[in-house]
Amino acid sequence: MHHDAGFDTRAIHAGQEFDPTTGAVIPPVHVTSTYAQDGIGGLRGGYEYSRGGNPTRTALETQLAAIEGGIRGLSFASGLAAEDALLRTVLQPGDHVVIGDDVYGGTHRLIRRIFGDWGVRHSTVDTSDLDAVRAAIELGTTKVLWVETPSNPLMKISDIAALAELGDEAGLTVVVDNTFASPALQQPVSLGAHVVIHSTTKYLGGHSDVVGGALVFAPGQEELAERVGFTQFAAGAVSGPFDAFLTTRGIKTLGVRMQRHSQNALAIARRLDEHPAVARVLYPGLESHPGHALAASQMSGFGGMVSIDLAGGGAAARRFAESTELFTLAESLGGVESLVNYPSEMTHASVKGTEAEVPESIVRLSVGIEDVDDLLADIDATLGRV
Ligand SMILES: *Cc1c(COP(=O)(O)O)cnc(C)c1O
Repeated sequence: MHHDAGFDTRAIHAGQEFDPTTGAVIPPVHVTSTYAQDGIGGLRGGYEYSRGGNPTRTALETQLAAIEGGIRGLSFASGLAAEDALLRTVLQPGDHVVIGDDVYGGTHRLIRRIFGDWGVRHSTVDTSDLDAVRAAIELGTTKVLWVETPSNPLMKISDIAALAELGDEAGLTVVVDNTFASPALQQPVSLGAHVVIHSTTKYLGGHSDVVGGALVFAPGQEELAERVGFTQFAAGAVSGPFDAFLTTRGIKTLGVRMQRHSQNALAIARRLDEHPAVARVLYPGLESHPGHALAASQMSGFGGMVSIDLAGGGAAARRFAESTELFTLAESLGGVESLVNYPSEMTHASVKGTEAEVPESIVRLSVGIEDVDDLLADIDATLGRV
């Protein structure tokens, strides 16, 4: 495969050479914990023990690096395990982190509760406001700038290139959580980010059947990648071979899925936008969204996530979330099937009472790739009930 091959070609072929012994087009799933040695230390292909390395995980890590344009990918047991490995490698007690005020609730909880207890301080800021970010950075002490764009669940858009420049000036590590957009629509490494993180549980896996996480390192971050690779090996939160296989399988169709997610989400956002029960639709694909122009410049599509602010407040939002038929009420996102979530009591319950609290009037939709007419009919019927 050519190194400058297109996105879908890389997604389908990187790390997927056919099996040299049988010709199997799909590389086998290597269900093994350990590897025979040809004499002491005589490893075949460098594999010794599957916490340190497994060919099915290597295939996924190769694919991850290729689709994000990075120099190395690392695959973990969950998105939070990936975040933990990165932060534990970069931070020491006394350090400071700047995070978006609207990041995934679990990320906020990890930094506040686990790293907070360990003596790491943090500030939450609106990362779509560059002056606020500049003011929050403590030179010499801030070691990480954590950006999520589009953000979760308020769909705010932050300027990755400008934030990366700020981070470079301040000598800190700029991390972008690219879970919502996926590399099919947004490539943070090409915009200057140092590390990209994913919950591969979401769009990359894409079928709501596997939990996983990933880190991808930008060119120039070889040394950091090496250190985090050591943490992955030494702390051990790796993905198993079946999970790695399912994730690789999902990634092969990511490009076409994201196109359809984006089309369906735009149609639904427009329909919601016309209805009096809806005070605001938060979708970067709508011209009325404050981040629309920026999203159009740094993304190649607007994705499948749509949040709405119900005019009737918390009671209406609960009624909406509990009365859809095709949209299933569940946490998570990014699968082929449509889901509805009530953030303040579900995905973001852990940030209630903090600066990252989500308003009770918000409902978040993960728009799937079903027939759009069926989804629109479900939305229309649901709006009739709130
Ligand atoms: C789900 C999610 C995570 C955490 O990933 P897990 O796989 O659930 O550990 C992190 N960031 C975002 C944006 C997410 O949606």
